[in-house]
Amino acid sequence: MNENSLKCDTAIAGGGVAGLACALELLKKGQQVTIVDRDTPERLGGLARWAFGGMALCSTAQQKRMKIPDNPTRLLEDWQSFAEFSSNDKWPELWAKEYAEKNHEQVYLWLASLGLKFLPAVNWVERGLYKPGNSLPRYHVLWGTGWELVEVIIAHLKPYIESGQLTILHQHKVIAPIYQDDKVVGLTATNELEVNSTEFAISATNVVIACGGINGSAEQVKKHCVEGETMVPEQFLNGANPISDGTLHNAVASIGADITRQDHMWNYAAGVPHPQAEFDGHGLSLIPCKSALWLNHTGTRIGPQPLITGFDTNDLCQQVTKQEKPWTWQVLNYDIAAKELAVSGSLHNPSIKNKKLFSFLKEILFGNHRLVNQMLEESEDFVCADSIEALTEKMNALTGEAYIDVAHLKQQVASYDKKLLSGEALENDDQVRRIRHARQWRPDKLRTCKPAPIAHGKTKLIAIKLQLITRKSLGGIKTNLQSQVLDEYDKPILGLYSIGEAAGFGGGGASGKRSLEGTFLSGCILTARNAANKITKIN
Ligand SMILES: Cc1cc2nc3c(=O)[nH]c(=O)nc-3n(C[C@H](O)[C@H](O)[C@H](O)COP(=O)(O)OP(=O)(O)OC[C@H]3O[C@@H](n4cnc5c(N)ncnc54)[C@H](O)[C@@H]3O)c2cc1C
Repeated sequence: MNENSLKCDTAIAGGGVAGLACALELLKKGQQVTIVDRDTPERLGGLARWAFGGMALCSTAQQKRMKIPDNPTRLLEDWQSFAEFSSNDKWPELWAKEYAEKNHEQVYLWLASLGLKFLPAVNWVERGLYKPGNSLPRYHVLWGTGWELVEVIIAHLKPYIESGQLTILHQHKVIAPIYQDDKVVGLTATNELEVNSTEFAISATNVVIACGGINGSAEQVKKHCVEGETMVPEQFLNGANPISDGTLHNAVASIGADITRQDHMWNYAAGVPHPQAEFDGHGLSLIPCKSALWLNHTGTRIGPQPLITGFDTNDLCQQVTKQEKPWTWQVLNYDIAAKELAVSGSLHNPSIKNKKLFSFLKEILFGNHRLVNQMLEESEDFVCADSIEALTEKMNALTGEAYIDVAHLKQQVASYDKKLLSGEALENDDQVRRIRHARQWRPDKLRTCKPAPIAHGKTKLIAIKLQLITRKSLGGIKTNLQSQVLDEYDKPILGLYSIGEAAGFGGGGASGKRSLEGTFLSGCILTARNAANKITKIN
């Protein structure tokens, strides 16, 4: 550790994408910056490293090429509809407006300036169920995934590390901001590599809290669910980072910061235990297949509104949580899995992560057999059989109880299949209606099967045991549009900023109850750039 790291212009608590983006902007303006991050050097970049890299953006060249008539007004209308803001959500609403108006300039063009590119096809996610969601496609996928995003930002930071303008303290934990004479003047930290590390201080004119959300901590998730609106079952998986455990949220609250909407979370309904788990309860989030039947623990189709992804993730989570057992099933066949199954994240999408155009196109056109075979091989929660009888046996063996009766499961599958055998003119099923709607949009059609019976005997059957998986915190530290941390009376705490997931992606909960999806990485960049802009104007 050198003198520059202990005294700097800005100290950033957390080296996730928000912290790194903020650092880059401050360094460009000549600031001396220290980043303190709890994780190992290989994991610098936080969750963004594992992220798929989808971003909700509007008025982009990709949208124009696909003749999607999007604009900030339309994005804001969709955002407000999905967020269901309450009268107390002054800052979240202002951040939603900021995002709608500035995402193009502050995020899309900024990423382009770093040399990053998006895939040409724009996807249509979170279309809405009981509340209108995205009224048109705006989900852009970063070529190279979140991994590339992090690597590119780090590459831009390297010259500043070499010149000594940026110091990164890896495996150091920030304990709290130092608050003196009504302003923040630095932070305290410990070196987690040392056995009996003593707390030391870093003095800084500005401190930026970029420690991520709280959804990596099962205790925090349970605590806030009890207090608020989101429900989680008694058992769930963890799809975030246990390092981000809410310590810093509590520390800034103790000096007067207002923490809001921590009960709002963006979890997913289709998790399986991670076959290469890095910590207890570590899960993988599947993009569940639209054409699969979604069943409860007895093998009964969940309803009356059948569950199908792509419309309202929050509702899916609430529906699976209401079930009697903390797991549900998807039953499908191999052909559906090959076309529709996906796993969220960079590591399970190697052709996009490694920018292999040929294998990416092959997977889209002929199905992702590699992924299906990998999951069947690696995950105990994927079972495969030639008949419903054999499948039921494996499903019951997995839960250790004969919850599923073969005749019942056969009847459930047959009843769905029968509807599809009478021909399109006589179809009457909400899942099939939604599948057809998804297929109207060409990029989604490529990943969604034409409605067809599941048990047609020509291909193997698959059942996947699914659990709820926690992921993003929608609430967090309340901030104004310059990312300054606010107290309960909306007064800025001088010298203190918060960005990214720690700040609920702006304002302590910019997404309200639901995200339009892909608003997180982009929200990190927007809040980070706004903070850097304010800091460099003041100093
Ligand atoms: C598998 C996966 C897929 C995803 N896909 C997408 C996607 O496609 N699109 C999208 O928009 N979002 C996606 N996300 C979400 C997105 O990646 C995160 O919301 C975003 O990266 C959060 O960035 P952050 O910098 O705010 O926080 P984090 O990435 O959580 O980083 C916080 C950093 O702070 C450090 N830290 C925490 N506490 C302390 C402390 N006390 N002292 C020092 N350091 C500390 C941690 O080590 C960490 O490095 C995905 C997430 C995952 C896990």
